Amino acid sequence: MKPFDTILVVDWSAAQGRAAARANTIWIGIARDGVAEAPRHMPTRRAAEAWLADTLRTEIAAGRRVMAAFDFPFGYPQGFARAVTGQDDTLALWDWLADRIEDDDTGRNNRFAVASDLNRLFPGTGPFWGKPNETDWPDIPYRGSTRDGHGMAEKRACDAAAAASSVWQLAFPPTVGSQALMGLPMLSRLRRIDGTVAWPFEPWQDAPAVLTEIWPGLIENAMPPKGDGIRDRHQVRLLAHALAALPVDELARMMDVDAPEEGWILGAGRRGRLTDLAASAPAEAPLAPPPLSNDCFALPPGIEWTPVDDALALLRDRLRPVTGAEQIAAADADGRILAAPATATRANPPGPNSAVDGYGFAHEVTGDGPQSLPLVTGRAAAGAPYAGTVPRGQAVRILTGALLPEGVDTVVLEEDTRTDGTTVAFNGPVKPRANTRQAGEDVAAGDTLLAAGARLRPPDLALLAAAGVAQVSVRRPLRVGVLSTGDELAAPGSTMDPARTYDANRPMLLALAARWGHAAVDLGHVEDDRNALRDRLDGAEADVILTSGGASAGDEDHVSALLREEGALTSWRIALKPGRPLALGMRAGLPVFGLPGNPVASFVCALIFARPALSLMAGGGWAEPLAMTVPAAFEKRKKPGRREYLRARLGPEGVETFASEGSGRVSGLSWADGLVELSDGAAQIAPGDPVRFLPYAGFGLF
Ligand code: AMP
Ligand code: MG
Repeated sequence: MKPFDTILVVDWSAAQGRAAARANTIWIGIARDGVAEAPRHMPTRRAAEAWLADTLRTEIAAGRRVMAAFDFPFGYPQGFARAVTGQDDTLALWDWLADRIEDDDTGRNNRFAVASDLNRLFPGTGPFWGKPNETDWPDIPYRGSTRDGHGMAEKRACDAAAAASSVWQLAFPPTVGSQALMGLPMLSRLRRIDGTVAWPFEPWQDAPAVLTEIWPGLIENAMPPKGDGIRDRHQVRLLAHALAALPVDELARMMDVDAPEEGWILGAGRRGRLTDLAASAPAEAPLAPPPLSNDCFALPPGIEWTPVDDALALLRDRLRPVTGAEQIAAADADGRILAAPATATRANPPGPNSAVDGYGFAHEVTGDGPQSLPLVTGRAAAGAPYAGTVPRGQAVRILTGALLPEGVDTVVLEEDTRTDGTTVAFNGPVKPRANTRQAGEDVAAGDTLLAAGARLRPPDLALLAAAGVAQVSVRRPLRVGVLSTGDELAAPGSTMDPARTYDANRPMLLALAARWGHAAVDLGHVEDDRNALRDRLDGAEADVILTSGGASAGDEDHVSALLREEGALTSWRIALKPGRPLALGMRAGLPVFGLPGNPVASFVCALIFARPALSLMAGGGWAEPLAMTVPAAFEKRKKPGRREYLRARLGPEGVETFASEGSGRVSGLSWADGLVELSDGAAQIAPGDPVRFLPYAGFGLF
């Protein structure tokens, strides 16, 4: 059978009149190419039918195979079709109903009148029962227990197999009978679309579009707890995922049923399998979160100097992820941040297998001393399992990675054996299960492989692949805009005017953002002009902006002025050397990190403040730098009050610091391999004293 490119799962409804316009009407789950999309809500049956007809036609025209699965019975117990239409033909019964059932845009319909007509075709009382009140429709009994003598079975064979409800019940949940009366006329019309067939009544193996019956009760155990969102919506999404995740040959076997009149529930009798697949559905991608609030960076009044740790704690507390999510192939997800946990769809290894090349047998037949076992013909290799059972007392040639054949639980290493091709000899004792790997010993199906917020690395891609995860929900990359300000700035090499400073921060900050896995957006350079700055910020396609320069609250400080006027600004005087002024602002929902202009200070502030803040906003959680304690290979006397970061690198005697502490020396940044962090208090450091070294590599730079 050809696989289905698109799976639609329809949660049908028999809702009447105004109730039909309420939330709990019709939901359609959609999976295209194995990936579940957001389910669609249909306000009325007519809207749903129009959408389905349109989608079937479009997909068929595009050469995409479609399965549309519906959650109501396609048939009735044996004999019903003949009693109504004179033929043993369920499809004729669909047409009979299509000719009689009326349904309008508000959901008003005549199903009780039609059910009355149907009951009159049968002797006794019933088979249909259940109605809104005890007086109307005298041919329909109010209670099921008063039915008698109508001659129809209570359930179809598949309803019994799946423990599904009776098709005769019209009122009081579950209203399966009403759903079918209101649904079958639609099927009668949909199956007339060119290329569309009804399973299992028509040949379906090669049809471009197949209408099937499913029952959400089969995945009840995979459903989130009651009260956790709209259940029908969950159900159709999980079912669409489960059907799409089913290997095509397994689906073909599930569809291979013999039920020419009553029809069948797809997957009846395979409840566990569908539940497992449904439970493996990735969590739905969250919508893009709302923007951060304007007072996000506000500081308590009266604060003069903010210690570094307080500033970090405040950022950590106020910021949160701002990016939405998307589904992508796991193989393409290196460096991306998981928006939802990744769950194993299959155990690894999926079955017990051999860890070595050797000979496999049942351990219980071996003992101490020399052993000699006759060999079966054939062998077990990776990807080419041994088909039969290895008889007790015999051995089989087995290669690394081969599934253990039935009858084998232990493998002896080839190097420890002798063989003449018909018998294998080795020395006992052999440990039970020696040289084998157990199913799921690495990962069990359903295990959480990686938590939301994990940034994927190459070994993570191997884990996802080994556990069968083909698609992951990841955060969209955080767009980090980088802007330089200042009249004095010029492009590197563009002028020899000594009054001009080459823009060193922008290439550095853009590269930092990129190394941290964000989408770096170059917003260029703006002169000290309020309107130019406003235009640049307004046009920025970014989730957060790093500016440098203009943060010192001087006359030319347009960044701070603009934020103060049109948004919110907190100018932080952080007890930090180098890099005192740090402006944190919000403008039109856009956070702006105003970094110092001085490149050394700009770099330190970017590493210490911007890196963890950007990581949090990107959905990856707060990022702590990697720190190690190493002996100092320098001498230093430090006054209390400010935390200090020295440009440093490891040498044979310990960590060395750059000769000059002058923060204008960009060469020291490039010379260094990391920073030495000196705590806020006073310090007197002598060579050999332990100090905290933060390597560049621990900030993601290597
Ligand atoms: P500011 O923070 O604007 O007061 O600038 C402090 C110092 O950093 C001044 O000497 C600026 O010229 C210099 N500066 C500002 N922006 C940059 C930049 N993008 N590249 C290099 N130096 C800069
Ligand atoms: Mg329903």
